[in-house]
Amino acid sequence: MSGELKPPRSRIDEIDRKLVELMAERMNAVRAIGKSKSTDTEAPLRDHSREQEVQARWQGEAETHGLSSYFTGRILREVMNYSRRVQEELLDRSQNTTHVRQLRVGFQGVSGSYSDLTLTKLFSERPQCRLERKGFASFARAVDALENGDLDYALLPIENTIAGSLNETYQLLADRQLSIVDEEILPVDHCLVGLKGAEVEQLRVIRSHPVALQQCTIWLNKLSNCATEGTTDTASSAEALLNNNDPHEAAICSEEAAGRLGLTILERNIANQAHNYTRFVLVAREPETVDARRPARMSLILMVNHRRGSLAKCLDAFARRQINLSKLESRAKPESPWEYQFYLDIEGHREDPKVKEALDEISSHANTLKELGCYPRRSVFGEDLVPEEHVAEEVASAKPEAKIVSNASLRRSGRKPAHEPSIVKIGGVPIGAGHFMLIAGPCAVETRAQITAGARMVREAGGQVLRGGAFKPRTSPYSFQGLGFPGLELLCQAGGAYELPVITEVLRLEDVNRIAQSADALQVGARNMQNFELLKKLGKIDRPVLLKRGLSATVADLLAAAEYIMAGGNQQVILCERGIRTFETATRSTLDISAIPVLKERTHLPVIVDPSHAAGRRELVLPLAAAAVAAGADGLIVECHPDPDNAMCDKEQALTREDLDELVASIKSMGRML
Ligand code: PEP
Ligand code: MN
Repeated sequence: MSGELKPPRSRIDEIDRKLVELMAERMNAVRAIGKSKSTDTEAPLRDHSREQEVQARWQGEAETHGLSSYFTGRILREVMNYSRRVQEELLDRSQNTTHVRQLRVGFQGVSGSYSDLTLTKLFSERPQCRLERKGFASFARAVDALENGDLDYALLPIENTIAGSLNETYQLLADRQLSIVDEEILPVDHCLVGLKGAEVEQLRVIRSHPVALQQCTIWLNKLSNCATEGTTDTASSAEALLNNNDPHEAAICSEEAAGRLGLTILERNIANQAHNYTRFVLVAREPETVDARRPARMSLILMVNHRRGSLAKCLDAFARRQINLSKLESRAKPESPWEYQFYLDIEGHREDPKVKEALDEISSHANTLKELGCYPRRSVFGEDLVPEEHVAEEVASAKPEAKIVSNASLRRSGRKPAHEPSIVKIGGVPIGAGHFMLIAGPCAVETRAQITAGARMVREAGGQVLRGGAFKPRTSPYSFQGLGFPGLELLCQAGGAYELPVITEVLRLEDVNRIAQSADALQVGARNMQNFELLKKLGKIDRPVLLKRGLSATVADLLAAAEYIMAGGNQQVILCERGIRTFETATRSTLDISAIPVLKERTHLPVIVDPSHAAGRRELVLPLAAAAVAAGADGLIVECHPDPDNAMCDKEQALTREDLDELVASIKSMGRML
């Protein structure tokens, strides 16, 4: 190390030590609050307004120190996830003792496998639990040991987002007397690892668990002269490298397994899909209780009787009580082919009267109903799991009872008396039924620097989805037409860097599939609202579509256009009022505010407003946005630019960072949460 680097590096080490110390102190304070919540059984687990206050203060402090509120905000989000996890664990009475519990936990594989990592994550906040971990050659062996009393718990993977359900686990849950007492979700990041000095081009064999190999086929197929071989688990494929000591061999495993064995990472993130998560369940011999305030999940096995419509009646018992079904899986009964048992996961607590009622009702349509367990419900990153009742309250307050107008030609988009407002998600961000969404970004993607700065301003201001046109429908053929696919790539990279899903406009039928592969949502511009062939094609994809109202289209025309998309199978449609042509020239278009309540009467689809294209002038965007929120819009889409004066497209209406802040404050002041 050169001499001048030494002092700043030891300074960094010293600061890091302090940061960890402060973090430990913060967690002690969090624990003190958690303890008082656990003794006062009436106290709510989450205090949303307090969380918002903490966030705003932290953001303000970061800015006064000249730090990026985006990156510091990410740190705080993670700290808050951690704190929530700590408090949730404290609600479990057995955690509230100083008594050390020795737990024997079994899993399939060797140390460093994904199951082993999952145990570390699951038990990270139970300091009084001492884990004695035991690896087994198969899931069944681990379960045998649990049944014999040699283990307290066994951890079993149950589903993976790429590979699907694990049949063996489901079979064990059906055949043995097990109770699911907890779950954990692990983001899986497959790495290619080798010996020091190994090179990808020189590899002759790559080993891993067959499921891991299957998840990386696209990357593996690029290699020539390299074979693959299945092993019992990912970590043992890495161990084999050390034993063989051959630089032509590599393994696919986690970064942690590679680190533990001192192996080199040759390539990260080699799975076919960016999102790769595995859900695990922790099973015990007996059920355990879960504090009623925690978000919970229940798993059930159902065998319906043979009367027609029995399954539908069972599902309806949940639907009528607003109980969300998070998984339904049907499997043939091994002993009687063509007869099925259904595995259901619901979001809810065993002690919730609604759940009890639903289960009672279902019993009358079922031959058997077996409860596999009621356990704490985890999310991917442990982030914001709003308990069901909270969402239901929001819906009730946001949606005054609309007059129902039904119309036979709007079979899918129309509102029927039984129709609840729909929720559509763009890259995981929900809109509709009480969820508000702010989409913002430049009119067009211009350069990497411009869209990256645009993404940053949207993220820092609190927007949830990034917009940016790669294909621009311009009135004049001489105006900038957009960067095309390279622009889309820049948009996706900027969205990825700031964790924002992206939306972009599609102009041509032949581009639909290609855009759908990378964008999280597709926009149909006002000029294309009645391009029926385009709409039909969008009906065939599995991506949300933002449908803008045509310049001279009626509300009925807009709904008929939505029906085209939905008739093709795609129900994920968001409607957008963006102003219409009238005799008035003071604004670019005339924003039809009344379209919002009218649409709400006629459709269950979410409705958003684009005040930017309606106004055409920056000064008018904020008041029009406020009017839209007041009239009941489910979201807004606005244009903003890091340097509006030099924008290549629609610069007169582009909001600045300050304008965006003001917009977000006004949305919040009207009681809508972002
Ligand atoms: C846009 O959102 O970029 C756009 C072109 O809007 P509209 O289709 O509403 O004119
Ligand atoms: Mn525009």
